[in-house]
Amino acid sequence: MSLRLRVLGSGSTGNATLVEGGGARILVDAGLGPRQLRERLGSAGVDPASVDLVLLSHEHGDHARGAVAFASKWGMPLGGTRGTWQAAGLGAEDLPGYERLEPGATHRLGKLAIRAIAVPHDAAGPVAFVISAGGASFGHATDLGHLSPDLVGAFQGCHAVLLESNFDPAMLRDGPYPWSLKERILGPLGHLSNGDVGRYLEQGLGAECRRVILAHLSQKNNHPDLALLTAEEALQRGGRGETSVTLAAPGGTDWIQVRGGAEAPDAEAGQLRLF
Ligand SMILES: [Zn+2]
Ligand SMILES: [Zn+2]
Repeated sequence: MSLRLRVLGSGSTGNATLVEGGGARILVDAGLGPRQLRERLGSAGVDPASVDLVLLSHEHGDHARGAVAFASKWGMPLGGTRGTWQAAGLGAEDLPGYERLEPGATHRLGKLAIRAIAVPHDAAGPVAFVISAGGASFGHATDLGHLSPDLVGAFQGCHAVLLESNFDPAMLRDGPYPWSLKERILGPLGHLSNGDVGRYLEQGLGAECRRVILAHLSQKNNHPDLALLTAEEALQRGGRGETSVTLAAPGGTDWIQVRGGAEAPDAEAGQLRLF
């Protein structure tokens, strides 16, 4: 198997995604408490101590809340940008064991490659990730105000992408949030709307992507059916009927296999594609 993932939590109640491949196992974000993380890993049949690295996309609590407690309890390093480290209040200097991962750099863990891409969001050093192993690539981007050309380019070769589909503009406008917060969400450093995701799926999605995971839906300013319909209609308009959409519920998803393209270099991945 080249690469697989499982969302453990999605949205304002806490984000975390487990990714396995190339002999490594990582958590992208740890916005749930350590006990909840352990329970959800247990439901996935995964021993928390077997996680090799906890990567942080940025320091906001719904992504980083449980990271330090979880990593110190189970003994794996944390990773992320220097800005995330400092803004999370984890220390003025990098600590030993903190894996610095700056935009544009590729970090290797066994045969798993992790590339960070800067994203526009109101945090200290927020990043998206492209995670690759065995010829398959997975793009992970939550919390971004817009899809920059850099990110669209970095996701071109991905076989699966997880994107936030945070809000519906009309629901946000008419919803309960104070205007200052509505402005922040709508702004260039805020969050992606269903329509932003739809435009990307229609016009920017890489040709080899067969799986889209919609994540980080607002429970107040969005509806799962609306997000799903917007994404599916956009894929249809783009002639991408072969690409399927999965909604990540607040409690996560089942395992999702990421199948690589025809150029997958290893025989194992080639055999698996026969199934
Ligand atoms: Zn968030
Ligand atoms: Zn955020």
